[in-house]
Amino acid sequence: MHLCFQAGESGYLFKLARETQKVKKYSVTVLAGDGIGPEIVSEAVNILQLVQQMYGMQIYFIEELAGGASIDEYGEPLKDRALDFAKQSDAVLLGAVGGPKWEGLDYSIRPERALLKLRKELELFANLRPAKIYNALKGASTLKPEVIDGVDMMVVRELTGGLYFGTPKGVEKLPDGTERGVNTMVYTTAEIDRIARVAFEVAMMRGKKLVSVDKANVLETTELWRRVVIKAGEDYPEVQLSHMYVDNCAMQLIRNPKQFDVIVTENTFGDILSDEAAMLTGSIGMLPSASLGYDKRRAMYEPIHGSAPDIAGKNIANPIATILSVAMMLKYSLDMPEAAIAIENAVEAVLNKGLRTADIYQDGAKKVGCTEMGLAIADELKKTKV
Ligand code: NAD
Repeated sequence: MHLCFQAGESGYLFKLARETQKVKKYSVTVLAGDGIGPEIVSEAVNILQLVQQMYGMQIYFIEELAGGASIDEYGEPLKDRALDFAKQSDAVLLGAVGGPKWEGLDYSIRPERALLKLRKELELFANLRPAKIYNALKGASTLKPEVIDGVDMMVVRELTGGLYFGTPKGVEKLPDGTERGVNTMVYTTAEIDRIARVAFEVAMMRGKKLVSVDKANVLETTELWRRVVIKAGEDYPEVQLSHMYVDNCAMQLIRNPKQFDVIVTENTFGDILSDEAAMLTGSIGMLPSASLGYDKRRAMYEPIHGSAPDIAGKNIANPIATILSVAMMLKYSLDMPEAAIAIENAVEAVLNKGLRTADIYQDGAKKVGCTEMGLAIADELKKTKV
């Protein structure tokens, strides 16, 4: 990867990047991570560098180690320095962390701790996962083409509250020798309001249709959820808000996924529904994600897949999920929605031309490697602006 500068120089450049000038200036912390991370991130950074040339913006890249790579170098999955850069920059681009080499380590210093630390310290409470069907890849889904044709939705999942974090929690011994397990679904008005507002903002940038998913007929917590979402919606009169019980939503995603534009839901429901929505598209190597915090400068963008150690270093990984993560970054953190659309169109154009990495290969297509796919997308992107 050829980044503009390494970490030590960045204090001055952060300041420089903030100065209000004609050219928009941003800083992005790049954490390539492990396995295929460096290969796919390199292609995504190339696209960002091209965007800055094409759109007259300036991006300062700060490259830091994360996950197993950081453990090997420093003995810990994420240095404080890397975390500080992540906090100070306008956005974080993450490849993936983890791999068999570090599986024997104690949980407290496993590569995945880097991810958890970033999410916690940056307070990334909103997870955005788009699921879009590309015409050229309709055959890759397990659903019938006529059901998935035209699917283009976003799942907004609350990421830091609910059942996964609520207390009391745990497993206790009972006097009769059996055990009792407890988890608690807790949400406050403030927690619901902030995720609802992210979802309304996302809906405003898309088709202005929002479905809030709850289980308000059974769970009091989600009855509060529904009330708070309705109240927040008063500030977004242009967005058409509706409500759906989670069991019905799981069914509707398979029955008629085209009806959805944006879905907002609590942590556990979102965990399950976002995986279900992702699988509509049939390919893990295609799906980006964004995790957002209180303001748009607290944000991390990453593919939804892992470090794929089985194919690392072979130049066969699909870089599209990471390149589309960069498109999300441009849209949500770097005020460049037009560049985001241009990248999405370039990806579509390359797929329409029949180029495929191994994971999405179909008979008759042209099989390409990670670098070749990245270059082809860059070539298409160059054509979008004179
Ligand atoms: P994985 O997503 O890495 O791989 C699952 C399968 O999908 C593999 O066959 C892999 O080759 C393939 N695959 C994934 N991404 C691909 C791409 N871009 N192009 C082509 N094929 C791709 O999941 P896993 O195998 O369960 O996990 C491997 C490691 O990644 C583990 O250490 C796990 O903890 C870690 N992981 C990290 C993250 C993260 O950093 N966010 C997420 C999930 C898993």
